[in-house]
Amino acid sequence: MQMKNNPSSLLNLTLEELTSQLEERGIPTYRAKQIMEWVYQKRVTSWEEMLTLPKTLRQELNLIYPIVFPEVVTASGSRDTTQKLLLRLADGEFIETVLIPASPALYGEESDRRTICVSTQVGCAYGCKFCASGLDGFKRNLRVEEIISQVLLVEEKLGHRINNLVFMGMGEPLANFENLNKAITILNAPWGIGLGARKITVSTSGLASRIREFAERPEQIRLAISLHGATDEVRSQIMPVNKRYPVAELMEACAYYASRKKQLITFEYILIAGVNDQLEQARLLAQQARRLRAKVNLIPYNKVEGLPWERPSDEAQQVFLNELRQQKIPATIRREKGHDIDAACGQLRRRMQHEEKN
Ligand code: SAH
Ligand code: SF4
Repeated sequence: MQMKNNPSSLLNLTLEELTSQLEERGIPTYRAKQIMEWVYQKRVTSWEEMLTLPKTLRQELNLIYPIVFPEVVTASGSRDTTQKLLLRLADGEFIETVLIPASPALYGEESDRRTICVSTQVGCAYGCKFCASGLDGFKRNLRVEEIISQVLLVEEKLGHRINNLVFMGMGEPLANFENLNKAITILNAPWGIGLGARKITVSTSGLASRIREFAERPEQIRLAISLHGATDEVRSQIMPVNKRYPVAELMEACAYYASRKKQLITFEYILIAGVNDQLEQARLLAQQARRLRAKVNLIPYNKVEGLPWERPSDEAQQVFLNELRQQKIPATIRREKGHDIDAACGQLRRRMQHEEKN
């Protein structure tokens, strides 16, 4: 039926799909489980290495389900050991994946946390004014296998498994909805990467209707909202998406998500000097967080070359944080661990593109 002559990456398949496709081809279905085990448990990167499969079968399947990884162009580590991989995809586009070891006060207290920050698109169509990913517009969605291989490549480089994943790299995850959902299924599956749903966080700039759709998944996947402004006035200045989904509508969608999950929602709030760091915004942010029982992650703005925005002074950051805490809102400041390697979304790719042009 489908895909007979149309190769599909092995990393784009669920166990269920592979099983039924093998069955259609008259190949014993127990092979599907074996194959997934080679890829996700034993971590081989080619068909030749799957030694429990007959050679002819390996050759046959290699043509139908090639295993192709993006090329690791650079791997940079910063002083605090945040590591960043710049990957070149088959069509020459670049994406970034970041590994943040230990606990950057992201989502919890564990100290052995190894977080991977994954990209979902090449570029981004949402054009937030402060963000490097949106500056050059949108190129394309990442394919499922391109999302999965970020995890496999990082784990290979790291030498052990990650235990936390955030979709906070380049792109808007909920705008690549179908591939995001399938990738999450593979990440979460016991036969796949095997990462618990509670260890997966999807960050969105606020696509309210998608948030509602996403809420229908049964798993306890965490949701982070890039709020960055407590009022329409402030938010619309820096996030064009707010015109489509204003704050009130976004908050309703969040409430719906929260009602379907046991997980708390997180508000991400970049602090940008003179734009959204007024005390009044902190007060309104606290109100919204209280209503949703959300926690707040403050992120001092990470400077992007060519953009005018700056982070507030340390004191101003602290005043903002204190206001939230006084109002009993669980809030942290995320000290940018990867500051010295352009860890904020889209920055490394941009630099690479500009270097290639020159
Ligand atoms: N598109 C999604 C996920 C990717 S962005 C979203 O917007 O949520 C991941 C986070 O990085 C977002 O909260 C985004 O606002 C933030 N971010 C983007 N540029 C940044 C910068 N220069 N400094 C600090 N955080 C930034
Ligand atoms: Fe896109 Fe997120 Fe960057 Fe906004 S912050 S431009 S939604 S990647």
